[in-house]
Amino acid sequence: MIQISQIDMVWILTCSCLVLFMQAGFSCLEAGQIRAKNTINVVIKNTADFAISVIGFGIIGFSVMFGKSLSGVIGEPFSLSTTETPHIYLIFIFQAMFCATATTILSGAVAERMSFYGYCLVALFMVILVYPVTGHWAWGGLLFPGDNNGWLATLGFHDFAGSTVVHSVGGWVALAAIGHIGPRLGRFNDPGGVIEPSNITLTSLGVFLLWFGWLGFNGGSMLAANESVPLIITNTIVGGVFGILSTLALTALRYGKPKALDILNGSLGGLVAVTASCDSTAPWMAAIIGFVGGLVVIYVIDLLQKFRLDDAVGAIPVHLGAGIWGTLAVALFVETPEHLSAIEFLGIQALGVVAVGLYVFPLSMLFFYVSGKFIKYRVSAQAEIIGLNIIEHDATTSTLDLIRQMSHQAKSGDFKKPVTVDHQTEAHHIATFYNAVLDRVNREEAEKDSALERLTWLAEHDPLTECLNRRTWHERLQTAIDTANPTATFGVAMLDIDHFKNVNDTHGHATGDAAIRHVVQHTIKAFLDIDATFGRLGGEEFGVFLDVHQTPLAQNEPHVAMEKVMKRLCVALETTPLKVGDKEISLTMSIGATIYQPGELPDAAISRADQALYVAKGNGRNQVQITD
Ligand code: GH3
Ligand code: MG
Ligand code: MG
Repeated sequence: MIQISQIDMVWILTCSCLVLFMQAGFSCLEAGQIRAKNTINVVIKNTADFAISVIGFGIIGFSVMFGKSLSGVIGEPFSLSTTETPHIYLIFIFQAMFCATATTILSGAVAERMSFYGYCLVALFMVILVYPVTGHWAWGGLLFPGDNNGWLATLGFHDFAGSTVVHSVGGWVALAAIGHIGPRLGRFNDPGGVIEPSNITLTSLGVFLLWFGWLGFNGGSMLAANESVPLIITNTIVGGVFGILSTLALTALRYGKPKALDILNGSLGGLVAVTASCDSTAPWMAAIIGFVGGLVVIYVIDLLQKFRLDDAVGAIPVHLGAGIWGTLAVALFVETPEHLSAIEFLGIQALGVVAVGLYVFPLSMLFFYVSGKFIKYRVSAQAEIIGLNIIEHDATTSTLDLIRQMSHQAKSGDFKKPVTVDHQTEAHHIATFYNAVLDRVNREEAEKDSALERLTWLAEHDPLTECLNRRTWHERLQTAIDTANPTATFGVAMLDIDHFKNVNDTHGHATGDAAIRHVVQHTIKAFLDIDATFGRLGGEEFGVFLDVHQTPLAQNEPHVAMEKVMKRLCVALETTPLKVGDKEISLTMSIGATIYQPGELPDAAISRADQALYVAKGNGRNQVQITD
């Protein structure tokens, strides 16, 4: 059993805390890159997979990875609780954090469309069957030194802190997962296909939390606070920084401007790439490795796009792409072990990459295929549209609440009520402006409605007298005839003011207008007890129709009733002169009337009434003529 100094213990525990902090980094990184409707889901996934990792790794994964080696392939089971030495716990804590890191790589790639429980199951699969097995191949001898190495380590495979063991492994599972569940809705639509990140600032915070954790990830992997650590940390930082530099240069060259997400991912690519070799290279080598790592990220992003593979946060370019490069770069920059030639060393590094890929990727595909028969890995299209925060976790926010109200209004077309949002929330601001817009739109709508009402009225009425115009009066007559009950008997009359030209000529046009209004008012008054429809047909001519059976004179024969009603009108006008100042102008009118004969056209009755009017005029005016 290894003895460990207290300073080493403190250092490794501190580094474990730093690696743990990478969970916060992943949560922020992923939440910022996806749409707001799925952020809660991604955060809960990252929390759940941490628990799954620690428990699964503690119960099974740890012994599979570090138990006494069975032919270099897998560790023999042993129980943590029977081996109570601080050294074991130290390695366990540090390695459990590594396992959690490898697992959580997947969560970003599958974000926005994988079911929560599906994700938990994959995390468990990863913790038990994937990470510890390949981990044993490279690092199995860590706990029980001696002749206990995994087969890759025995060959001389060098992966200091896990470019392959942690990062590529997470990347391979992620690749299988996105292949199985497919791209997010609309991701490869043409045109479009761009899914807006919700908060790049949050992503950048996540990236630097990952950086912070990475110093513990690589710095602690010596498992000692010795003189190698400063170089390791220097190389880690240099690698990340050169990842920034290369992606900055490449995106600036490509697009004319540096691209935030590419550069943030590029820095992580640099960190992943130097992770395999940062214990044994000079900083200038770490610079080259990190620089190329950044470029690899960008080109793998292109490759995924080409194959229509949707990795929501670029986890595969960063962890798998740069992880493979970093592992191969070991052979190019790290001093070749004595028992190998340079070419053999490169071959062994490549063998490690390929062997891990050949184990993890097909196994993951098989796992998805088989378990996919029992569990749904992809949420429904509707769930994806609504968002996993609501669908998977019933989480709602003031913004979502506001969107619901607005979408209800859009669907129902009812914009009368303002939306209501709690004053204390962020969405209140938007709601206030939305309500102001609603208010304005409603006011304009009301103005338009009343203008339309006025226009409709004008189309049907005569503005001077406010009674029906010729067209509308005619339509009403037609409708009355069409819809009347069989007992109805319509009287139709044409009215014309006598010698009206004289009024205009003698008193002026304004008085003429007043005279026309005067006649209308008197006609309306005379018809107060009669349901008659009155219209101005033009100039000083008017039309009237009524159902004679509905008049107080209904007991008379229809012609007689009609004549009496009309005479009442003549008398009323004659006895009420128009007063203009102190002058009185007496007005009379002539009326021609008829009874509508069932079956004839309304125009026939109108024409008969007109002829009767002509007769009334000829007979000296101020009288009623009724046709038989
Ligand atoms: P009659 O007894 O034969 O009906 O003679 P009249 O003068 O009443 O008939 P005529 O058809 O010769 O003249 C009608 C006049 O009414 C002519 C026109 O200038 C006038 N008039 C038509 N519309 C209006 C109006 O809206 N306002 C005014 N002030 N005059 C009008
Ligand atoms: Mg006239
Ligand atoms: Mg006339």
